Amino acid sequence: MKWKKEGQIKGDPRPPLPLSGEGRVAAYVELFHRGKLKERIEAAKSLLQSCHLCPRHCGVNRLEGEVGKCHTASKAIVSSYGPHFGEEAPLVGRCGSGTIFFTNCNLRCLFCQNYSISQLGEGENVSKEDLASMMLSLQAQGCHNINLVSPTHVVPQILEALEVAVESGLHLPLVYNSGGYDSVETLNILDSIVDIYMPDMKYSDEKIAEELSGIKNYPQVNKAAVKEMHRQVGDLKIDGAGVAQRGLLVRHLVLPNGLAGTKEVVNFISKQISLNTYSNIMAQYHPCYKAYEIPSLARPLSTAEFQEAVKLAHQAGLFRLNKAHPLVLRF
Ligand code: SF4
Repeated sequence: MKWKKEGQIKGDPRPPLPLSGEGRVAAYVELFHRGKLKERIEAAKSLLQSCHLCPRHCGVNRLEGEVGKCHTASKAIVSSYGPHFGEEAPLVGRCGSGTIFFTNCNLRCLFCQNYSISQLGEGENVSKEDLASMMLSLQAQGCHNINLVSPTHVVPQILEALEVAVESGLHLPLVYNSGGYDSVETLNILDSIVDIYMPDMKYSDEKIAEELSGIKNYPQVNKAAVKEMHRQVGDLKIDGAGVAQRGLLVRHLVLPNGLAGTKEVVNFISKQISLNTYSNIMAQYHPCYKAYEIPSLARPLSTAEFQEAVKLAHQAGLFRLNKAHPLVLRF
């Protein structure tokens, strides 16, 4: 078993501190105390019966053990969890981002750098109590947030665990760290629960999305999802210690040969989301998994290609660009 159980639920001596950052109450804590979290859990679980949790709309009964494109039935699967220092600086702060890596994904990207987790199923089934213990353990270790990596296909399971964890004093902001293929219906369930949305914007071209991730309507679905996320939480707010508290952070991985459609992505962000959007234009593409089988993806990104992407972001008027970690930037 790769993940460790360190958190406690029953008999936890920690006082219920519903405050995070500069004294702001984490969104879901308020919802819990108003007795509304249960309704959201039921709404999310109802989507599993004929699964429409994500825009794949597989229609399988996950509660009865059937699986759709995400290969996940009624239980969430976790590959690992722990404080992570390789995320964006406002998430990492001084003490790390408390990441939980969920196994499987609703995308099938041929170049996925975590393919053994996202597509080959590396991980262990977890109960809601297990998942709640992980959240509490990350909080006890001093992490600044609970960073849910690939959460889209396990939203109901996350909410069930959240309820257990809040009862034991969880108060950190939740980071929804997704591939950006999320339905507005499911995102609505997460309104006033998630504090920080961190979606990918992978492509602006349908044909490329279909070829590389197996879904044609990614650009259209992704744009609607990012708009909804921004409607809920607004631009990213960072406290005096440099730690993110609430808002939207968009990731865009630049692909070789212009495959990510960077110009359209940054123009969409600047014109239809906000010029103040915290954006991470990512340079770290290198061929993985099946990328070697696709000639246009079979090499790392060049310096010139990355510089051009950053130039496009500046030209679009985006000024809150993430500064890459020196180990990530190879240029
Ligand atoms: S969450 Fe999984 S089963 Fe449900 S619609 Fe999406 S890919 Fe299909």
